[in-house]
Amino acid sequence: MKFSDLTFVDGGQMDRRSFLKINAAVMGATALGLSGCSKLSASSARGRIVIVGGGAAGISMASRLLRKLDQPDITLIDPSDRQYYQPGFTFVAAGIWKGEEIWRPQSKCIPEGVKWVKDSVVALDPVKQTVRTYTKGSFGYDFLVLTPGLQLDWDGVDGISQATLGEGNAHCIYDFEGAQKTWIAVQQFVRQGGRGVFADTYTKHKCGGAPKKICLLTEHLSRKEGTRERLQFDYFTAEGALYDVPYYTPRLEEIYDERHVSITTKRRVKGIDTQAHKVYMENRVKTKEMVFDEKLQKEVEVEKEIGVPVVEDYDFLHFVPPMSAPDFVKRSGLAWTEGKLASGGWVMVDKETLIHKTFPNVISLGDVAGIPTSKTSSAIRLQVPVAVDNLVSLMEGHAPERKYDGYACCPIVTDYGHVLLCEFDYDKKEKISFPFSMQDMSKEQASAWWLKMYFLKPMYFNAMLTGLM
Ligand SMILES: Cc1cc2nc3c(=O)[nH]c(=O)nc-3n(C[C@H](O)[C@H](O)[C@H](O)COP(=O)(O)OP(=O)(O)OC[C@H]3O[C@@H](n4cnc5c(N)ncnc54)[C@H](O)[C@@H]3O)c2cc1C
Repeated sequence: MKFSDLTFVDGGQMDRRSFLKINAAVMGATALGLSGCSKLSASSARGRIVIVGGGAAGISMASRLLRKLDQPDITLIDPSDRQYYQPGFTFVAAGIWKGEEIWRPQSKCIPEGVKWVKDSVVALDPVKQTVRTYTKGSFGYDFLVLTPGLQLDWDGVDGISQATLGEGNAHCIYDFEGAQKTWIAVQQFVRQGGRGVFADTYTKHKCGGAPKKICLLTEHLSRKEGTRERLQFDYFTAEGALYDVPYYTPRLEEIYDERHVSITTKRRVKGIDTQAHKVYMENRVKTKEMVFDEKLQKEVEVEKEIGVPVVEDYDFLHFVPPMSAPDFVKRSGLAWTEGKLASGGWVMVDKETLIHKTFPNVISLGDVAGIPTSKTSSAIRLQVPVAVDNLVSLMEGHAPERKYDGYACCPIVTDYGHVLLCEFDYDKKEKISFPFSMQDMSKEQASAWWLKMYFLKPMYFNAMLTGLM
């Protein structure tokens, strides 16, 4: 059994070892920042830029474009009053931060010099180059930056909705209120004991690490509270394996094993009976069937996957709803129409230049982009400089040259004190930032915990959103 050796957990003082760890983390933060930073020089390119969505991607784009263009004409459309640091939802659900510590007023995050239209986009027409908002009319653009994030499809899980989250002890940390309710329920569960069922979802979703983190943190909390023997932890993934980046998977599976958290693969959550505390799942199994092949003019055997219903009882449940591109994006004619990314309606951009494949005046990044990498803000931090430089090249009439390699970082918090900092690229190959390359990052590290705990949030609000890194 491994407990955190860091003073944060039980006290508040910092010892020498912790201080050194912080320093390592600072260096890490700096290195992570420098790797994403390009030298900005003013361009005289002209054009009306409309940015749809002012989250991690949209505001970072606006800030960098302001510095890059000498006469910027930028309109940002976003309805939200608040800018959330969403990676903090997990820490709120684990009692490390309070809800009010992870958001800032949107008005303070949108950079001066950008015209903010506080409204939702309901339709966009890439042929006429217009976006239509709910109440404030239509806006024409020369260049469109499409960054509205993704939508949580709550209706994809029967028996619960965003409004009823928490009923029947069924929780989800992908929602701000939901994360706060989760912390109350986690403490109760750890005290009372019972079976904890933790599940992810079968669609592409943001931060694939989040359901794992809340599972492992709850398990660690029960050990800290001395109630572990009264609890059972079962993790269900819709995937064929717990994690799919070979450098990190063995240790992650080992952690689950050491801590007696079972892993069941190929399970999809379909519905919840919150009264009876039952979660309805589908076990995806391969089967064979005969179909008529028009070309061969005969019956042939094909393999297909079917869902076999299974029910699991729970005392505490953490589930994740399916996710997809916002509906107006799906209807826009900008989404993939074939391949793996078509079903979610993700935007059809080139995975390296982030420019739309049929409308070269449209650039898309962040969660909504149809690219085969992890949907995280760490990925966005490295997408933004590429997207800005390529957009400015297009505005100047040059071919876009910068390429994004799929870098994403998924910090899997394994306990109150350690993080398995999974950094990788499109090829699922580890891509470890200095100075973490001096440590064995295939294992969880305290230095990565300090990075996450103390540096990533201020870095988000003060450096990433302001276009400094
Ligand atoms: C629980 C959880 C844990 C996470 N953990 C991590 C982590 O540890 N590390 C990490 O790097 N990432 C993590 N992430 C993922 C990260 O937060 C997202 O990938 C990132 O915020 C996506 O940025 P975005 O700009 O694409 O979308 P968002 O930041 O979601 O912003 C989208 C913006 O678009 C606006 N919008 C939506 N619809 C419209 C519309 N119709 N018209 C106009 N505007 C619209 C919204 O108001 C919002 O401001 C986590 C996320 C969650 C939920």
